[in-house]
Amino acid sequence: MEIKEAQFVMSNTAVDKCPAPDRPEYAFIGRSNVGKSSLINMLTNKRSLAKISGKPGKTRLINHFLINKEWYLVDLPGYGYAQVPKAERLKWEKMLKNYILKRENLYCLFVLIDSRHEAQKVDIEFMEWLGISEIPFNIIFTKTDKLKPQELENNLKAYEEKMFEIWETMPGYFISSAEKGLGKDEILGLIDEVNKA
Ligand code: GDP
Repeated sequence: MEIKEAQFVMSNTAVDKCPAPDRPEYAFIGRSNVGKSSLINMLTNKRSLAKISGKPGKTRLINHFLINKEWYLVDLPGYGYAQVPKAERLKWEKMLKNYILKRENLYCLFVLIDSRHEAQKVDIEFMEWLGISEIPFNIIFTKTDKLKPQELENNLKAYEEKMFEIWETMPGYFISSAEKGLGKDEILGLIDEVNKA
């Protein structure tokens, strides 16, 4: 699939304020600085569709983009910001979980993981919650251009082992690099497949 058109639709803070759930929807989520904005810009061929923000915690809204007039791409607020006060973080988490549980046209969630880092508790717990809640998701390992092939292989293996502690199989995953355009065809291919199913 080629993304010919990507339009910003709206930003909001609650699932009931999102656009009518009349199209398939795919959402992207991850810890701050994981490379989410860069990935979304890479997928949509836009340099600044999702603002690349150096400031953690700047994107605290559910952002909807309409792609090729066919499906919604959603840029979700990041989680795991150490600097954000706890009360605010909890409010935010509640908003996110509410969206994930209640958004009826959410076909798949993409959980972004920085390929350079060891498995983080906050990500593992989040994916565990997705599993328990029966939310379909795939992992996208980001910034893989920063690793040598052997390092990437080792990191993926270590991640898989960690996942096997809670899962019987490794969830589906993609290898990506916004820098090199890696993973684009595969991620858009999956979306295309699901849209057509
Ligand atoms: P976000 O906070 O998750 O939206 O992350 P950003 O997209 O703003 O990226 C955070 C930082 O990582 C920025 O300095 C990006 O330039 C860098 N970055 C993001 N993706 C990649 C990638 O695939 N490769 C490399 N080398 N750097 C990346």
